Amino acid sequence: MHAGYNITGRVIEDFLNVCKGGSGRILMVALSCLFISACSDTGAVQKNKENQKGISRMDDKYKCSDAEWQQDLTPEQYNILREKGTERAFTGEYWDSHDAGIYVCAGCGNEVFRSAEKYDSGSGWPSFWKPIRDNSIDEKDDHSLGVRRTEIVCSNCDGHLGHVFDDGPKPTGLRYCVNSASLDFEAESSEKGDNSGRLETATFGGGCFWCTEAVFETLEGVESVTVGYMGGKTKNPTYDQVCTGNTGHAEVSQIKYNPSKISFSELLDLFWKVHDPTTLNRQGNDTGTQYRSAIFYHSDEQRKIAEQSIKEQQELFTDKIVTEIVTSSEYFEAENYHQDYYRNNKNAPYCRAVIAPKLEKLK
Ligand SMILES: [Zn+2]
Repeated sequence: MHAGYNITGRVIEDFLNVCKGGSGRILMVALSCLFISACSDTGAVQKNKENQKGISRMDDKYKCSDAEWQQDLTPEQYNILREKGTERAFTGEYWDSHDAGIYVCAGCGNEVFRSAEKYDSGSGWPSFWKPIRDNSIDEKDDHSLGVRRTEIVCSNCDGHLGHVFDDGPKPTGLRYCVNSASLDFEAESSEKGDNSGRLETATFGGGCFWCTEAVFETLEGVESVTVGYMGGKTKNPTYDQVCTGNTGHAEVSQIKYNPSKISFSELLDLFWKVHDPTTLNRQGNDTGTQYRSAIFYHSDEQRKIAEQSIKEQQELFTDKIVTEIVTSSEYFEAENYHQDYYRNNKNAPYCRAVIAPKLEKLK
């Protein structure tokens, strides 16, 4: 779709159509591909544990030598994570914990589970009915002890976490049985405490991501917006790969916002305005799952708010809203030339013709 597109033709018309679903998107793609033909490499391999802490995005496997693991972990953590040991039931730190927050791999800091999916299994080990993301853990066949079980390991560092069994609660019916010692816990800051600095994340797919980024960046309470890819299968996809539609990713804007200043539903109000949520896998003439309208929720609360918001919005649209509401998955930031496109290119015709009036209207 990129090759041979005549940039000087149809320009203004395309610009005016962009984001409301015209062929302008093709132009955008063409522009992008002209500006930079090779994708910048985001893949600085993060081998530093501190950098990895709390970061769910993984550019590469986190590796340490055995000596480093021994130095870095307590003997109990080493026994479980690296030697596939098991702590005794009802002895670990988290089997009976009900605090809200995120459980990360004690070896590398990869986010693996969260309190929202933790439940009391009665087993004496922390139990979850699903991992925080599909790709946050890996499964392996385990034939030790003379029985067939499915081992679960951290997808980032291959640290042994425990096993998964099929006797869990709905909706998955799975029980992820995890050793406390393989986990660290990062508590959500208390509602009553000072959470003014705590940022939350919202991720929206709405076609034209230059435009959505610029619009969301104007909001009070939004700390940062980046654009990237979510919901696909390929790790670290390039823009060209996503353009093919084969990776399964949607192009998204990822928003860091301060919930004490702006609510998720206020972000959604704007989300509905900046794209057409009624066209399935399509914005204007551009078709493909990468253009799908999607809300990738980061908490159960966001999911509920999104579902309610769709119901309310539906009354304003004649056609059925097809926006999908799905759990967030690994986010891959797009190449640098897509970031801050408007801010860096205010005088480009695209920005003058499309984004500037949009911003003006929102004032
Ligand atoms: Zn790990």
